[in-house]
Amino acid sequence: MLQRIPWSAPRAARRPRPLARVPGSPATLAAALLAAAAVTLMLPSPAAAWGPIGHRVVGRIAEHHLDPGAQSALACLLGSESLARASTWPDEVRSDPAWKRIDPWHYVSIDDGETYETTAKNPGGDVIEAIGRFTAVLRDPAASREQKAEAVRFLVHFVGDIHQPLHVGRRADLGGNRVEVTWFGAPSNLHSVWDNGMIESEKLSFSELADFLDHPSAGEVIAWQAGGVLDWAVESYGQRSQVYDIGDGKLSWVYGYRKVPVVRLRLVQAGVRLAGLLNRTFAEAPVTCPLPPAG
Ligand SMILES: [Zn+2]
Repeated sequence: MLQRIPWSAPRAARRPRPLARVPGSPATLAAALLAAAAVTLMLPSPAAAWGPIGHRVVGRIAEHHLDPGAQSALACLLGSESLARASTWPDEVRSDPAWKRIDPWHYVSIDDGETYETTAKNPGGDVIEAIGRFTAVLRDPAASREQKAEAVRFLVHFVGDIHQPLHVGRRADLGGNRVEVTWFGAPSNLHSVWDNGMIESEKLSFSELADFLDHPSAGEVIAWQAGGVLDWAVESYGQRSQVYDIGDGKLSWVYGYRKVPVVRLRLVQAGVRLAGLLNRTFAEAPVTCPLPPAG
């Protein structure tokens, strides 16, 4: 029966071998323990939103929908750094205490029955205001090229985040981080299944997944790019009821089969909308590189 399901079991379901089974000398064991610790440190934080693959997919899809003005503005600001590469920077810097203040910018808490207008705002900011704030930096003629480059790195990441339904989350369970589930038998939480579990189940690289998903109709592109950041948040909020349809919490084939289409839709919408935002913004506030010195 399993081969009839169009996606395969994730690597995360493979449990690591118990360390007691590691053969060899104490030095070998110590090396194995260090390696295990290093792997643990490299795991994405549960609140990191789409994992690296998801964020890079959004960046890569956006690159396919940029107009020439936005392409040249981005080449000027980022040089050879692609949007796919820039997309994970706001998660990479989170381990640096100096960047701790950006934590609340990755999500917004809106409880059931509330709206963004009625919800208590986080004084440290949220993903909706952060997208507005960094878009304003790109429009600001007084902002430096470095400030605009940083704004692009934040925007490519946060436009991805806001399309992950659990990043417009309920306060009580921290956007699903406190909802313990198993994913193919391995302990996990609902947020992590949406950040990484289902995307990794696709068994595709980010560029393969971007190519796989990036086939919106012309009408979809127009419709998706017509709205704004509040619309994107309302959509994520509206998708939450499906996300929490977890039964006994033992999630595997059936949950993935039903929910992966939502993941795919949100990734492609995020990429197309990021391109729309950058196209509009750079059309209104062009960025040009200084000409190289003559001679
Ligand atoms: Zn994030």
